[in-house]
Amino acid sequence: MAKPVLLAVDDDSDVLRAIERDLRSKYGAQYRVIASDSPEEALSLLKQLKVRNESVALLLADQRMPQMDGVAFLREAMQIFPDAKRALLTAYADTNAAISAINEANIHYFFMKPWDPPSEHLYPQLDDLLDDWGASYRPAFEGIRVLGTRWSPKSYELREFLARNRVPYQWIDVEISANDPETRRLLEYLGPEAASLPVVLFPDGTKLLEGVPAEVAQRVGLRTRAQTDFYDLAIVGGGPAGLAAAVYGASEGLHTVMIEKEAPGGQAGMSARIENYLGFPIGLSGGDLARRAVVQAQRFGVEILSPLEAVNIRIEGSYRFVKLADGNEISCHALMIATGVQWRRLEARGVDRLQGAGIYYGGGAADAFSFKGETIYVVGGANSAGQAAINFAKHAERVVIVVRGSSLSSSMSQYLIDQIKQTPNIQIWAHASVAEVHGETHLEEISFLCSNTNKIERVPASAMFIFIGALPRTDWLASVVERDERGFILTGPDLIREGQRPRGWPLERDPFLLETNIPGVFAVGDVRHGSVKRVASGVGEGSVAVQFIHQYLSKV
Ligand SMILES: Cc1cc2nc3c(=O)[nH]c(=O)nc-3n(C[C@H](O)[C@H](O)[C@H](O)COP(=O)(O)OP(=O)(O)OC[C@H]3O[C@@H](n4cnc5c(N)ncnc54)[C@H](O)[C@@H]3O)c2cc1C
Repeated sequence: MAKPVLLAVDDDSDVLRAIERDLRSKYGAQYRVIASDSPEEALSLLKQLKVRNESVALLLADQRMPQMDGVAFLREAMQIFPDAKRALLTAYADTNAAISAINEANIHYFFMKPWDPPSEHLYPQLDDLLDDWGASYRPAFEGIRVLGTRWSPKSYELREFLARNRVPYQWIDVEISANDPETRRLLEYLGPEAASLPVVLFPDGTKLLEGVPAEVAQRVGLRTRAQTDFYDLAIVGGGPAGLAAAVYGASEGLHTVMIEKEAPGGQAGMSARIENYLGFPIGLSGGDLARRAVVQAQRFGVEILSPLEAVNIRIEGSYRFVKLADGNEISCHALMIATGVQWRRLEARGVDRLQGAGIYYGGGAADAFSFKGETIYVVGGANSAGQAAINFAKHAERVVIVVRGSSLSSSMSQYLIDQIKQTPNIQIWAHASVAEVHGETHLEEISFLCSNTNKIERVPASAMFIFIGALPRTDWLASVVERDERGFILTGPDLIREGQRPRGWPLERDPFLLETNIPGVFAVGDVRHGSVKRVASGVGEGSVAVQFIHQYLSKV
């Protein structure tokens, strides 16, 4: 943790050295002592400290300085660090001036030069001042700070990325906290750069303007470059299925890389509480499950590249090549596709324009806090919608689940329906669908078409979360891997038609259970045709597939 600063300013180098030495010898263990011979430089240093979110406990300035006297310096410094204790160093002749300065400029103390011995004339008084300061001192947040606005899609994307990758950060909404003096000061010292939102401030004082996830990923040490260009096993997709395959593959000695385009955890990472996963009787959050799995995979030496998207594959003899969005390519003997599914888009006027500004697909646990005390609309009637609604209800004033049908019973598990019934601030709006959304810069109203009355109802709204089913995004595999009409990947027995193996299949055996029409290329989890769309089944398939990979590799 950065130590709070004691700043001494004096243009007389002998006095400055003496005060620096005395401060350091008594307070150096707890505080960082900084000495400056120029009040102007000291002020600009204070602004830098403010941007870095550091704390200043004491400002000590000589009264007689040519460019700016001590009182003037302390007055300006007080604007930057209002809570710091302020003291003057004065000559005997300036005592009267110092006393009136104390009254006028809110100065806490003045010291007479020379202060020998410091044990009598300096330390007791400073101890008092610092005790006083320490009583109300709250250590500042030391991690990454993100400045942005709630309705900005770019800010949302960045926050979502940080949250899903479990990177701790402090969010400063520059609109909501516009009247907060600390935020105002921070924006002032950032100057014109404060307009390039989202601004990411790192603890070392560096910053990223208009920060995007890929740049932030590099700064926080997420790996996006492969260490080598060949692996035994490459896994595309870091959801439960991909993570399970990574853990089993690496623990059984395969040199394994996992490529994930957003954040490890996949859809499960967005689940507020998974209640049906074996071994967790009170459930666990998807974020927690993902964090544990990532640690486990890393322990076995899996290389995780994220955020990085796989955009193409090609086959050359026994080598399988994966082309990555950054232009690089890696090769492997066995390739596993575990890319899951992504949300289906809601077709209604205005939705695309306001996505990220009040309209969101899916919804992570972190989102709930942003809508504290407000009404949230959740569109969809499946388990994912139910879980999200229960989670949102902890913070929102009211949650409305909007479904086309007459109830939830046909689409949602009974245990969730029961929980919803017991949550008084969740309401079900049946027979309704989104017709249009309204708002200039962010969602303000939603028009619902009510199928039982055939009327449009327009309601005020600041947040709508969409959970209307999902589809695989497998177009990038289309020229190589066989898929069904909806894009799900065919594997094993599904590839055998009228007793015939898939066209071009070169081996004397049938495709293994989870193998695609290309030997050595496997598909597991939600992306696979016919799979059960559940965490446990994804984990099961990812683990089982590794056994087939061993069999495949033994003959390569
Ligand atoms: C909100 C919510 C709650 C849920 N709750 C439960 C529950 O309580 N119990 C339960 O059993 N199931 C639940 N599910 C379903 C469960 O999460 C999924 O069945 C499971 O996550 C599927 O795992 P998967 O690994 O196959 O795919 P996914 O979890 O979809 O993971 C696929 C990963 O691949 C990545 N990816 C996609 N394309 C590429 C590419 N080209 N390059 C690199 N990476 C790529 C994606 O970013 C994603 O991280 C829930 C789902 C949601 C959305």
